[in-house]
Amino acid sequence: MGEFLIMDVIRLSKSSLSEAEVVAVNNVLRRGYLGMGEEVATFERSLEEFFGRQTVCVNSGTASLQLALQACGIGVGDEVLVQSITYVASFQAIAATGALPVACEVNPDNVTLDIKDAERKINERTKAIMPMHYAGYAGDLCGIYQLAKKNNLRVIEDAAHAFGSLYKNKRIGSFGDVACFSFDGIKNITSGEGGCIVSSDAELLEKVRDIRLLGVEKDSANRYRGKRSWDFEVVDQGWRYHMSNIMAAIGSVQLGRFSELMAKRLIIMERYQKELESCSNFSLLDWSEQTVAPHIFPIICRNEKTRDLLKNALEDEGVETGVHYKPNHLLSFFSKQKSSNLPLSEKLYSRLLTLPLHPDLTTREVDLVVKILRRQEETTRG
Ligand SMILES: *Cc1c(COP(=O)(O)O)cnc(C)c1O
Repeated sequence: MGEFLIMDVIRLSKSSLSEAEVVAVNNVLRRGYLGMGEEVATFERSLEEFFGRQTVCVNSGTASLQLALQACGIGVGDEVLVQSITYVASFQAIAATGALPVACEVNPDNVTLDIKDAERKINERTKAIMPMHYAGYAGDLCGIYQLAKKNNLRVIEDAAHAFGSLYKNKRIGSFGDVACFSFDGIKNITSGEGGCIVSSDAELLEKVRDIRLLGVEKDSANRYRGKRSWDFEVVDQGWRYHMSNIMAAIGSVQLGRFSELMAKRLIIMERYQKELESCSNFSLLDWSEQTVAPHIFPIICRNEKTRDLLKNALEDEGVETGVHYKPNHLLSFFSKQKSSNLPLSEKLYSRLLTLPLHPDLTTREVDLVVKILRRQEETTRG
């Protein structure tokens, strides 16, 4: 075996776990009730306090989007407006209901849904709009709700990036039609895998409580008491999308650590913003007038060549990077459905680069990322 260098990789994102999550999972394992029960009820109550509204937990963010859409009555023959630059989960959740995801452009300054483009794509089949709060920033959410009101559309916010973000000083999820969150391993808080739906529409949430448990009516209430339903009724297509006690135990601890986790993310975000503001190879996202709980830290490079240069320079020194995201209309499964021409999104995609951001990233690691990017400023100048 030859010699090789072991390099510590600076990770793009990761879960940030403490001993408390380990203890909580152990307690669930010892008690031996692993499915949906008391821990899930407790986690939901804590989330309801956090949001000030009713909350239902499911086993992923993708499931939260799918069930929210289904509970809104959206299905075959319907169209849902959604930005093309989002995680494929948004598109698959819409497709899973039988509805058609209609890919829209984004604002090039902050990668949130382009309202004008969405408006152009409204027709009699359009039933909902799904803005995705990119990196934690909600864009012109008022504008989205105005458009929805004018055209009688439901708004399902894909808030997977925005747990803890504020819009006009109000927490995302605490207002509006329906907000869906993800608690997968790398999100602002995690439950291992998981998600939740927040709304003021009690009827919608009652439906979600049934369809997450194979459509079995009123089974949620029984399970919270450690019971199951034997003589039951099913009136809807249901799925096995409920959350387990193991996941909820992790989620409850993470929610309790929310302030700590968020403070760490904010320090890293502010350091990047301060140190990189003056760079000319790329620009930072325009996050004016909102308090972002940053899930990721993307930059927009001058052009594709610069993006690849910076990506390689970072990766050469063991810094992981990402691209959030490949536009969904370029994926075979979705491009077949409706021919779409989204030149802005395609151009932007070639310029996007995401820098490492997670609560366990140290100041030294952030400074290394900054140093590598600054060094490239000198190489590319003149
Ligand atoms: C993570 C994510 C989802 C889906 O959440 P999962 O819990 O991974 O299923 C949906 N939309 C966006 C934008 C996401 O980042």
